[in-house]
Amino acid sequence: MESQSSPNVPAPDLDEIDPPERPLRAPAGPPPFFGLTPEEVRGVLVGAGWQPYRANQVLDWVYRKKVRDPKAMSNLGKSQREALASLVDLSLPRIHRRLGSPKGDAVKYALELRDKARVESVAMLSKRGVTLCVSSQAGCGMACVFCATGTLGLTRNLKADEIVAQVLHMLETTGWEDPGFNIVFMGMGEPLANYAQVMKSIRILNAEEGLNVGARRITVSTVGLVPQIHALAREGLQLGLALSLHATTDELRDRLVPLNRRYPLRELLRAAEYYAQTTGRRITLEYVLLGGVNDHKGDAERLAEIANSLPCKVNLIPYNPVPQLPWQRPSDEAIQRFADWLFPRCPAVTLRWSQGGDIFAACGQLGAKG
Ligand code: SAH
Repeated sequence: MESQSSPNVPAPDLDEIDPPERPLRAPAGPPPFFGLTPEEVRGVLVGAGWQPYRANQVLDWVYRKKVRDPKAMSNLGKSQREALASLVDLSLPRIHRRLGSPKGDAVKYALELRDKARVESVAMLSKRGVTLCVSSQAGCGMACVFCATGTLGLTRNLKADEIVAQVLHMLETTGWEDPGFNIVFMGMGEPLANYAQVMKSIRILNAEEGLNVGARRITVSTVGLVPQIHALAREGLQLGLALSLHATTDELRDRLVPLNRRYPLRELLRAAEYYAQTTGRRITLEYVLLGGVNDHKGDAERLAEIANSLPCKVNLIPYNPVPQLPWQRPSDEAIQRFADWLFPRCPAVTLRWSQGGDIFAACGQLGAKG
């Protein structure tokens, strides 16, 4: 790597392996630091007899100065430096593999968790800045038929610290410095199916004494868990909400996104509208373009109708092929045609040419063998 400061640094080229012999966190050890809100960190340290300002110093080292080694926390007393590791676990999961895209605009991480479960995260760099895409579950139970992660099934929910750790790893190791980076819950898993831990991770990331990532810079993407969308609306945070719509009729959506059989379009869109009204934020409608499946003119017309019925923008995602799955990406002309049908009819349309396709790090490819 060359410079650490420019956002245009090419991605580190090749994978990097942490020493595998590094001991994994013992299950019965101290609580993981990254699963604690700043108040909880203070609670733990004050409970061990520390002055509250000492906890603030630790938070400052970790989240502002990006220092996790207690020995380097020079304004702590000697006894505190020695005790810290027994009070909170400051380690991050092992990086099993890190892969930079040849174009230098994406880095995919496979992290190995305490129980050896693996999750993937992707850091992306564009003209608009850095976006960190995090996983909320190992695998996914939603079984969307075109998604690589969907074919894996659910291994387990991630804990809040395992979500926060993904962000920290990417901030520490991409070398991309962007104070205005965005976080999207668009990696493996259905974030709203792991509601409590996802919310906790958001509170930690959002906390002023944490990473201080503004709620408006965090987007949760969901396949459409209606009760959880309502709950999210009532959290009092201006989080972005993205809905994985992908179809404009229940008939097709039932096939593509099995959860639609439980929460059909009408209910889903009503929940989306409630979210927009309660939070004052426009929803993003994500629409994966599957060649010959949902890319007809009629689909575009119905999509425009839906888009005009609620405060939203539309994000078209040309399908990223997944080995072993039969779905196809439409031709570039078909993609453009679909976008052109929408543009005049829709409030806002963007076309997401996913990054990271060359390293199987694009939308829906996480967990695919590549
Ligand atoms: N489970 C959540 C979070 C995942 S976000 C959700 O579904 O919203 C990942 C996005 O990529 C979703 O919109 C998903 O439907 C979409 N996706 C899945 N497989 C894809 C693929 N192969 N190509 C493009 N997008 C895909």
